[in-house]
Amino acid sequence: MRALTYHGANDVRVDTVPDPIIKDPDDIILRVTATAICGSDLHLYRGKIPETESGDIFGHEFMGIVEDIGTDVTNLQVGDRVVIPFVIACGSCFFCQHDLFAACETTNTGRGSIINKKGIPPGAALFGYSHLYGGIPGGQADYVRVPKANVGPFKVPTALADDKVLFLSDILPTAWQAVINAEIGQGSSVAIYGAGPVGLLSAACARMLGAQTIFMVDDNDYRLAYARDA
Ligand SMILES: [Zn+2]
Ligand SMILES: [Zn+2]
Repeated sequence: MRALTYHGANDVRVDTVPDPIIKDPDDIILRVTATAICGSDLHLYRGKIPETESGDIFGHEFMGIVEDIGTDVTNLQVGDRVVIPFVIACGSCFFCQHDLFAACETTNTGRGSIINKKGIPPGAALFGYSHLYGGIPGGQADYVRVPKANVGPFKVPTALADDKVLFLSDILPTAWQAVINAEIGQGSSVAIYGAGPVGLLSAACARMLGAQTIFMVDDNDYRLAYARDA
């Protein structure tokens, strides 16, 4: 298959690599129909994330069609169309049972964030985000292995095009969490720093929750102009 791979700082290439295969009984193999480049991918691209190895496949925002399923997969069938959250969670550890999936204690065999120097267990594994976060091949590829497939993937209706649902993989929930954390409600005034995709989606979420005045802050005029018109 073809996949976007890392070869060192500022050097990524679309290479031919082996197709992924089922490794654990609760894996699926997904044929990727849409994937996005995240702002976070720029840290990887620029070589700023330790334990990113040559040949690593990037990509944590993707969706597609289930191509193959492991023997323990109960929620999905071949042919289902699903969006994959970027966090890989087991669904059964202490944090998963409290719906704190990003803090899953069991999926990441790496060390987690580089600021973690106190032996605190790392958060969940992430797709395509260095060996600090589990070394799981990402979805900027024709195919991807999705571990813990009874937990993360969710089916989406065929009536909605890929570009209407793809952002559920990361940036829309990120934006939603931001406005929830900020306690935006009817009549709120809100300032959003950064008019990129997450900022724009935050504005949309804030507006939906009844924000009255939204200030977009950015030093790129074209992004402010887009935000104004959107
Ligand atoms: Zn992302
Ligand atoms: Zn867990």
